[in-house]
Amino acid sequence: MESQLQQGIKGYNNYGAWLREKYKGQRVFKVIVDGGFTCPNRDGSKGYGGCTYCNVDSFTPSVSRNNPSVREQVMQGVARARKGNKADRFIIYFQPNTNTYAPAHYLKMLYDEALSYHTEDIVGLSVGTRPDCIDAEKIALLESYTDRFDVDLEMGMESIYNDTLGQINRGCTHDDLIKALGLLQNSKLDVCVHTIFGFPWETKEMMLRYAGEINRFPQIKFVKFHHLHIVEGSVMGVKYKREPFKLFSLPEYTDFLCELLPLVRPDVVIQRLFGLSDMELLIAPNWGLKKSEIQYYIDKAIADREIIQGSSFI
Ligand code: SF4
Repeated sequence: MESQLQQGIKGYNNYGAWLREKYKGQRVFKVIVDGGFTCPNRDGSKGYGGCTYCNVDSFTPSVSRNNPSVREQVMQGVARARKGNKADRFIIYFQPNTNTYAPAHYLKMLYDEALSYHTEDIVGLSVGTRPDCIDAEKIALLESYTDRFDVDLEMGMESIYNDTLGQINRGCTHDDLIKALGLLQNSKLDVCVHTIFGFPWETKEMMLRYAGEINRFPQIKFVKFHHLHIVEGSVMGVKYKREPFKLFSLPEYTDFLCELLPLVRPDVVIQRLFGLSDMELLIAPNWGLKKSEIQYYIDKAIADREIIQGSSFI
C-alpha cells in the first residue's frame, strides 16, 4: 500500500496541494518575470549594497534573466513551462528586486503588459517586494486585478528581530512589516511573507518565535521558509569566505522544521520549506542533493515523525 507521502499527502498545508485543489487538478506554474526594478536598499534611498545575504541573481534561474520586455518574458516563460513542466495555467511572478518600487502608474503599465498575454491561461499575479515599498495606492492597484486573477503580494519578513534586520543591513524594521500588514487587513490580496532561518546569532528558541509572529496576523495566507544560504556576490559571501560560520546541515534544518511546523497556524499555506540558489552561485551550505531530493528528505522526516502543522498551535 502506498504511504501517505507517496499519495502526495503531507503533514503540512503545502502549496502544491493547495494549487491542485484550487485549480481542480490543473498544473499551475509560476513564470518569473524581471520588471527591471531596482531596490531602495541598493540605490541609496534606503541604503547601498543591499541586504548582506542578497545577490539578486541568486533568486532567479539564469534562463529568466536579461530578457528584453515583460511581454516577451511572459511568452517565453509560458512556452517553457508548457513544454518542460506540462503546465496548463500560469502565475506571473515579478520576483527579482523590489517589484513595487516605482510610481503606481508605471507599475500598472508593467503589470498590464505581463497580464495581456494568453489571458485565459494566466490565473495569477504574484509580486515580491519589501514591506516599506507598499502603500494604500499600490495595494489598491494590485486589488484592481483581483476580479480576473488571484493576486498575491510577497513581502520579506526575513527576521522578526530588529537587531538581526540591522545586522543584515535590511534597511527596514519589523515595524515596517507590521505597518504594511496593517494596510493589508481585510485586503483582497493573498499575503505571503518570506523568512530566513539560520542567522548564526539567532538561537533555535528565537527562531521558533517566528511562528507566533506569523500566527498573530490572519491576513498572512502564505509563507515561504528559507534556510540561510550564502551566495557569491553578496556581502555575507565575502565575510563567510574570510571567516566561515555555522550554517544548518540538512538534518539540523529538518529537525528545526519538525519543531516549527506544529507551532504554525494550520490554515497558513506553506509555499516553500527551503530555498536553493543556482549551484554556480551557492557557496554554502551545499547539501549535495538536488532540490527534489532535499524536498523528499524533509517530507519523509515530517511523515516518519508524524509531524502535523498546527498541532501545538493554541
Ligand atoms: S533581498 Fe530584496 S530588499 Fe534586500 S537587497 Fe536584495 S532585492 Fe533588495
